[in-house]
Amino acid sequence: MSAMCSAQSSKRRVVGVTEAELLTHLRSTTHRPAFICQHLQFGENVGFNEDDEPFDPEWPFRNAWCDECDKVLLQQGAWNDVSAGFAGIMVICEGCLEEIAGRNRASK
Ligand SMILES: [Zn+2]
Ligand SMILES: [Zn+2]
Repeated sequence: MSAMCSAQSSKRRVVGVTEAELLTHLRSTTHRPAFICQHLQFGENVGFNEDDEPFDPEWPFRNAWCDECDKVLLQQGAWNDVSAGFAGIMVICEGCLEEIAGRNRASK
């Protein structure tokens, strides 16, 4: 756990980074990319839903989205223009994903 992402050093740093900063961050970290909806990136306690598909070697990345996105996803029945457009998926790294999961997993 030595090579922590720079973005993990401060929560405020993770919340509200620009896409360019995220891409720079991804180049600087050994973590693999992960994909989340924009609400997880900027939210707190908005819910945390993860893909429960079996591991796919063609897409070996973790995906996560919030409860609102989950509702849209259920309405649409799949990821399509509507559900993906609502989610506004963005790329982060797996290290940041863990922190974002902790921040958004609603304590019900
Ligand atoms: Zn969302
Ligand atoms: Zn990161």
